[in-house]
Amino acid sequence: EYAESTHGFVGADLESLAKEAGMNALRRIRPQLDLDAEEIDAEVLDSIEVNESDMKEAMKGIEPSALREVFVEVPDVTWADVGGLEATKERLRETIQWPLEYPEVFEAMDMQSAKGVMMYGPPGTGKTLLAKAIANESESNFISVKGPELLNKFVGESEKGVREVFSKARENAPTVIFFDEIDSLATERGTNTGDSGVSERVVSQLLTELDGLETLEDVVVIATTNRPDLIDSALLRPGRLDRHVHVPVPDEEGRRAIFQVHTEEKPLADDVDLDSLARRTDGYVGADIEAVCREASMNASREFIESVKPEEIADSVGNVRITMDHFESALDEVKPSVTPETIERYEEIEKRFRQAD
Ligand code: ADP
Repeated sequence: EYAESTHGFVGADLESLAKEAGMNALRRIRPQLDLDAEEIDAEVLDSIEVNESDMKEAMKGIEPSALREVFVEVPDVTWADVGGLEATKERLRETIQWPLEYPEVFEAMDMQSAKGVMMYGPPGTGKTLLAKAIANESESNFISVKGPELLNKFVGESEKGVREVFSKARENAPTVIFFDEIDSLATERGTNTGDSGVSERVVSQLLTELDGLETLEDVVVIATTNRPDLIDSALLRPGRLDRHVHVPVPDEEGRRAIFQVHTEEKPLADDVDLDSLARRTDGYVGADIEAVCREASMNASREFIESVKPEEIADSVGNVRITMDHFESALDEVKPSVTPETIERYEEIEKRFRQAD
């Protein structure tokens, strides 16, 4: 029974649980015994039993680390780490950061602050980065929940996971809850045959939590999806995840900015031409560009290490440079992860959302 009710607990959690239950038994029996510590001998100890209520009591106080870890993150990502996406940043700043930062203004204007934002766009376009930046810039706690992980950690009771996430968020407000890949949890009810109603229960729980959030309660939900067309439409209605933000595949200017972000701290040779790199990387998303920059650094490092005697490396590392050639080979290695068809599909979806908004 305990094995069943401790989904998501790791070994250390179970150990704490057992210890706490033991302590509870001791606390329970102590007043009855009316003994001094030194009088508790083996016989007395033998008579102590951990019973069900000791276990139940212990359960209340101990949470799976899986959920506790969720709270450790205080992101250090700033707006400057997000290249391009100027319009998206502005939209997020207004909808999330302002209400958290200037609640008085929203109250005075009788404006409802947003409870939730749905960000959609292909993988690697910077959705996670944006959510972390918004949490950091609005000095909020950040709870990150990955849809598929929630399903795995709370097998058969993901809705309980959802409830706990929200209750933790309230306790730690101001909080940004980041539901990554929400499509894995919240696909249109009734469409997902064979999952024994999991997504149905998760969606209802999400709706309950969103509807229960008081405005200005300082909890904001940011959800992401690669498949907005699959999301249960009830979640996207007014008062819920009703702000829809497209995080597009970057255009040339955006790519230039992303190259800038990922090369800023790197020793570039004079011949490196970021404009030309941006021009030639149509279809590359932020994550691809980061990979290009990493690969170019790797190429430069490899060449340097192979050309210098090991004992001279420390002294000459100051001279190492990443050249345009290193970027050229990197471009041969790293291909765009998004196909033109995908881009087209997102543009279609964006049009639909715009009309709906
Ligand atoms: P998503 O959540 O959209 O799948 P991420 O935000 O996780 O994408 O991006 C993965 C990585 O790619 C980031 O950690 C970052 O290094 C890089 N990246 C993506 N988009 C950008 C961007 N606009 N500016 C700078 N780096 C980016």
